[in-house]
Amino acid sequence: MKNVLFLDFDGTITQCDVTDLILEAFAEPQWRAIEADWEAGRMGSRDCLHAQMRLVRASRRELDDLLDSIEIDDGFGGLLEVCACNSIQVHIVSEGFDYCIRRILARSAELTPLLRGVRICASHLEPEGDRWRIEFPFAHHSCPHGCATCKPMVMRLLARASARAIFVGDGLSDRYAAQHADEVFAKGRLADFCATRGIAFFPYARLAEVAAHLAARGDALNGRADEEILVGMEAS
Ligand SMILES: [Mg+2]
Ligand SMILES: [Zn+2]
Repeated sequence: MKNVLFLDFDGTITQCDVTDLILEAFAEPQWRAIEADWEAGRMGSRDCLHAQMRLVRASRRELDDLLDSIEIDDGFGGLLEVCACNSIQVHIVSEGFDYCIRRILARSAELTPLLRGVRICASHLEPEGDRWRIEFPFAHHSCPHGCATCKPMVMRLLARASARAIFVGDGLSDRYAAQHADEVFAKGRLADFCATRGIAFFPYARLAEVAAHLAARGDALNGRADEEILVGMEAS
């Protein structure tokens, strides 16, 4: 059976939450009250992000400087390599912003070839003077949670019924993804959420641990063998 690995971005591929850093640096302080409404479940992430980003004033240069200071988990490249070797398709699903994700990932020349075929499903951000306009290309009318990016919906689209969806994440914005996934790697508040909801998960702190876990399973996870058998059956 084919495996598809879905990765959260903020706090998972990076060590910090990029949106929080943007808000801390450039937003009027009311963003925290909006955040509290979202955390308490009084508001979906789409309305939350929309209201918070309206409070941001930053030039493109200021935002880029902040983005260029953000570090990527040093196990990310290794994880992508393990997935390539084991025919595991990888996608990034994030409620954060495509602009930020692309700029941060583009800094590393080693990652570029490994990211070929990796889809980035995230909120859309673009500059408009010192304001930032946002859109939600992966929100969905059937989403009952008010998600900015509906992670379970994206996972359903990109890993069809014939595939196993593996999810790696760290935060509250990953809770619906974790409920939907066939297998979960969790840290931080996502790990707490899974523990209280009785969702089985592998705890991890760095992506190198996720890579090692997937590599150790090797052929058991490897979809290639199954596919070769199927191709052989169709030919005969
Ligand atoms: Mg996160
Ligand atoms: Zn949703």
